[in-house]
Parts: sequence; C-alpha cells; structure tokens
Amino acid sequence: MKIGVLALQGAVAEHLRSLELAGAETVAVKRVEQLEELDGLVIPGGESTTIGKLMRKYGFMEAVKEFSDQGKPLFGTCAGLIVLADRIDGQDEAHLSLMNMTVSRNAFGRQRESFEADLDVKGMSEPLRAVFIRAPLIKEVRDGVEVLSEYKGEIVTARQGHLLACSFHPELTDDYSLHAYFLEMVREAAAAKASF
Ligand code: GLN
Repeated sequence: MKIGVLALQGAVAEHLRSLELAGAETVAVKRVEQLEELDGLVIPGGESTTIGKLMRKYGFMEAVKEFSDQGKPLFGTCAGLIVLADRIDGQDEAHLSLMNMTVSRNAFGRQRESFEADLDVKGMSEPLRAVFIRAPLIKEVRDGVEVLSEYKGEIVTARQGHLLACSFHPELTDDYSLHAYFLEMVREAAAAKASF
C-alpha cells in the first residue's frame, strides 16, 4: 500500500514516519501526477489558508477531488481537517468541500493554544495520545459523517466513508494507531474496488 503525504506546507516528515511505522510505503507529494500511484493521501497540519492557496496554485483542488471520487481514502489532520470541510466558520469559501461538516479554526482559545490529551476513539481499543496545536474543532456534522471522538464535549475526530479527519496532530507522538486505522480504511477501499 502506497500512501502519500501532501508536501506543500506543514508537518510532512512526521506523518511519513508514522505511516511507515504502521506498515505503509510512503511518498511526499509535491506534484499532482504523483497522486496516480497512491492508494491514500494525508493532508497534514500547518496553516490551512496557505495549504489551500498552494493547492489551488499547483492544481491539487481538482486532482484531489478526483482522487476522492475514485473512492481513494483521504486523511486530514488539523489544518488538513479544515481543508476537507465544506464549511469554515467566519469564512465565505471552503477548500476541498468534501466532508459535510462545519469547522471553527483556532477554536480552543489563546491560553490553550497547545496541549495534549488522551482520547477515546470509536473503533480503537486503547486511548490515543493527541497533540493539539492551535487546533480547529468540528462544530457540526451533517449527512453521513460519524463522530469518532470528542474532547470535553467538542468533536475532534470524524469519518465520512473513505474520509477521515482529526483536529489534532496524531503524527507527533510514537502512537501510530490512528495511522493504522487509516491504513485499514485504505485496505477496505482497495478490496471494495477489486470486488467490482
Ligand atoms: N490554526 C491552523 C489553521 O487554521 C491549523 C493549526 C495546525 O494545523 N496545527 O490552519
């Protein structure tokens, strides 16, 4: 299984490492042509406005939507979650608009710009160590979006079929279980395709 990490801006190397620990072959993606060889794609944390701008500039908006239309899984973390959402609080325009949810940026307040927590995630047997850095939260989920975890009553992980999003940085600890969960989604998607 080959998984790409969108490498326009943000925390790329750490995601590559976590994916490799979870057993994937990986590649840092800088050109749209590279998407063809991939079974799944991670959109990392960083700064969503910058990532969105660079995605538009280099043709990734259409290409990643097509990738998703083929049923290939996407995993957005932190800024990547914002890029996947179809509504961003206080902004007129969204980016990929693939997940039916409204997100709020920098939602945990100034004094809590950065913190760690252990989260229970639906479908995972052990709590996950999560690092939040100027994190967004999911304010509302709509059709087809399942909530996988909450932190103090706020939604921080969600899944919509082959799309996964979390508001924290799962790649900054040695716990690669959410990456392993994503790889399972990729395996399922590939198996579903093969059975057509
Ligand atoms: N605050 C950033 C944004 O709005 C996201 C932060 C992160 O990815 N760590 O894009």
